[in-house]
Amino acid sequence: MPVLPRPRKRLGQHFLIDPNIVRKILKVAALNPEDVVFEIGPGRGALTHALCERVARVIAVEIDRLLVEYLAQTCAQQDALELHHGDALAFPYDTLPAGTVVIANLPYYVSTPLVFRLLEERDRIDRMVLMLQREVAERMIAAPGSRDYGLLSVVTQYLTNPSKAFVVPASCFRPVPQVDSAVVCLSDRAASNPDDARFEEVFMKVVRSAFAHRRKTLINSCREEGWEEPVLRRAMEETKIDPRRRAETLTVKEFIALAHAIRVFS
Ligand code: SAM
Repeated sequence: MPVLPRPRKRLGQHFLIDPNIVRKILKVAALNPEDVVFEIGPGRGALTHALCERVARVIAVEIDRLLVEYLAQTCAQQDALELHHGDALAFPYDTLPAGTVVIANLPYYVSTPLVFRLLEERDRIDRMVLMLQREVAERMIAAPGSRDYGLLSVVTQYLTNPSKAFVVPASCFRPVPQVDSAVVCLSDRAASNPDDARFEEVFMKVVRSAFAHRRKTLINSCREEGWEEPVLRRAMEETKIDPRRRAETLTVKEFIALAHAIRVFS
């Protein structure tokens, strides 16, 4: 039997030990045999083995060389598995086939940057089933005005249809983490997005500026980030958005309208 490497907390290694959670994740993923799955951080293979039994191709990227060696031995019989050693942030996403399904129990320490990276690559991705800290999952689905609503909520809800599937107690992992996790499903909503990459760039810049200074009003936060005040005033007048509001009160629809108006008046 290959030697099981010791968990490295620095790499967010909290391994899933509950087969029931694996089953629930697979149910949410609703895989078809012809799906291609991309798994980030296969770890000791809790999900990987189950995925290889359901689809013909599982592309997995793991940063820890010892775990890659361990998996290469324990998954030797799994013809479906293509195992890569490396950082998922630096993975060549353009090599993934269109329609890939992402399934991952994400490492906490880098979960938000990974989510933003995956969202950037969504053209190749059909849907994502992600396990994250519960708090990050709550932020993704939060409604305007709530404590959790922010940049991650607006960007996730603009680009995808997010839904929280279920909560996973900390006791389902070893070593046991300090917080609970949750599984979210992000399905594609490309059809309803403006098909204009330039607009998306403006939208992202406007949303980032609006949330850059959370204590400031919308107009002051955007101005501090370099937008011209007359442009902002005209855009807010046009969209009937009070410049004294704060970013966390704006709906995704209002952000879209504001970004369109700023683009027109810039
Ligand atoms: N999928 C396994 C499970 O559910 O038991 C392990 C999940 S564990 C929370 C996260 C895994 O991601 C670890 O195996 C860790 O080594 C790996 N990891 C951490 N940072 C990574 C990165 N930047 N790119 C790829 N894998 C990473």
